Amino acid sequence: MTTLFVSDLHLHASRPAVTDCFLRFLSQTASQAEALYILGDLFESWIGDDAPGPTGIAVSNALRSLAGRGVACSFMQGNRDFLISRHFAARSGLTLLPDETVIDLQGERALLMHGDTLCTDDHAYQRYRRIVHWRATQALYLALPVRARNHIEAQLRSRSAAANDSKPAMVMDVNPQAVTDAMERHGVALLIHGHTHRPAIHRFATADRKAARRIVLGDWYAQGSVLAWTDAGPELRQIALH
Ligand code: MN
Repeated sequence: MTTLFVSDLHLHASRPAVTDCFLRFLSQTASQAEALYILGDLFESWIGDDAPGPTGIAVSNALRSLAGRGVACSFMQGNRDFLISRHFAARSGLTLLPDETVIDLQGERALLMHGDTLCTDDHAYQRYRRIVHWRATQALYLALPVRARNHIEAQLRSRSAAANDSKPAMVMDVNPQAVTDAMERHGVALLIHGHTHRPAIHRFATADRKAARRIVLGDWYAQGSVLAWTDAGPELRQIALH
């Protein structure tokens, strides 16, 4: 039994080698697995299911054929692609999971999150997140022509890059209390998330001295990154781009 987890691929037409690497991963590695979980930021940006672009279509087709081979494929929105919705999920054979989903992972309860809501020290981001997750904001945005949406998206992206450059590293990481709260809320000793691009298996003890783990997935920039959960347990692996 192998269950695979990926996140933070940030697929974009400007980095075709990463898209190619992911498509190879889907056809070779993932097709041998029982399940694949994509925990957000599959795409660098998403302006709506009606405008997936060539990269979105290629990935959608590959995911659909993977699902057709019997691999259970699930997707959770990230902070970049939170506008991916039912239409794209259905077209790609993906089960759309809400943030904070608990799954049975080979007998253990595991909490899955993208991870951005754990970064509670980044107040500016959390404020922005609340606004863009309002239904009214999304409805207004999605009603705009594709050109206008692309324009707004590019502006937001450059502003976010500039803001992140000036934020201290601590602010960009998860808040330990937010991690504990989320795990207690769901009564789990295992949390798997992405977003911070700091792949690691953190082991710690909960307040009631139970062994707990927080596994952080890696990004797909200089390499591909996957968490493979086999009968031997969890392993973070890197995949060469070429
Ligand atoms: Mn993210």
